[in-house]
Amino acid sequence: MTLLLDDPYAAAALLRTGELVAFATETVYGLGGDARQAAAVVAIFAAKGRPHFNPLICHFAEAGAAFDEVLPDSRARALAQVFWPGPLTMVLPRHPRSRVELLAGAGLETLAVRVPAHPRALEFLRAAATPVAAPSANRSGRVSPTTARHVLEELSGRIAAVLDGGPCQVGLESSVLDLTGPMAVLLRPGGVSRAAIEAVIGPIGAALPINGGPTPTLRSPGLMLSHYAPNLPVRLEAREVAADEALLGFGAALQGAGLAWNLSEGGDLAEAAARLFSGLRWLDAEGTRLGLRRIAAQPVPKEGLGAAINDRLTRAAAPR
Ligand code: AMP
Ligand code: MG
Repeated sequence: MTLLLDDPYAAAALLRTGELVAFATETVYGLGGDARQAAAVVAIFAAKGRPHFNPLICHFAEAGAAFDEVLPDSRARALAQVFWPGPLTMVLPRHPRSRVELLAGAGLETLAVRVPAHPRALEFLRAAATPVAAPSANRSGRVSPTTARHVLEELSGRIAAVLDGGPCQVGLESSVLDLTGPMAVLLRPGGVSRAAIEAVIGPIGAALPINGGPTPTLRSPGLMLSHYAPNLPVRLEAREVAADEALLGFGAALQGAGLAWNLSEGGDLAEAAARLFSGLRWLDAEGTRLGLRRIAAQPVPKEGLGAAINDRLTRAAAPR
């Protein structure tokens, strides 16, 4: 039985006893476990059905607590000032005295840390008073959850509780920035744009190629090409649509689809990001029920948040 909770203190108490608690953040729902308890970290991987151990992001109520576990440099401190709480994850060298389980970082010498911007998540993290390791609260390879109901659909019975925080405001995962080398590298585009990061710390290294290649897997084991995968195949850059397709529209929607979800009629990228995963889930479920053949996605501009949206769409469309 998975509890649906409104009380961050009850959720934190469960987490302290080693249970898994999914919680709302501004990006997507996280599947939280106490990062200092080996059994809890192992249970996260088991609940998700992750085939191998990808490093998890550790969540904190404030920058000070995050920076106790890693070795921040001046770039990290400047970025924390500007973007925390918020959708930016920083990968930094582990503090030699960090008590975060090595498995949470997949045995790497680095640790990914973040302070999320969601009032209830912050209350929960403050009450937990321990680093909370949390990947997205979905089964491995599937679309990330942006409501408590999405979490229950996939993880009910596998975790102790979900701390409900309503629909996620950003709706896309955090940007993951590697700060372990002299040149910062954006490992995953996300809720904070490349340009916004560069405005604080200057030019950052090339974004990862997402059309395969060994680099992404080496740098960040979790950044697999096929991810965010609905059951129906996804066709990108659709400029027309057929009656046996479900349309993921953007702006002026194409006509003639068997089913349609518009990310943003007004062409607003923030709105589109917030509606992306809900839309993919809904088109997938309804489209499958109606016997449709695939999901056709209209082009979305590539700048700003559009970079992260296109990254997720490309992964959703990747060969499995
Ligand atoms: P998620 O499972 O959706 O929370 O994704 C977390 C992302 O952060 C994954 O793509 C991981 O590979 C990446 N990540 C977490 N920790 C590290 C790390 N220490 N080094 C590089 N990438 C990391
Ligand atoms: Mg994920």
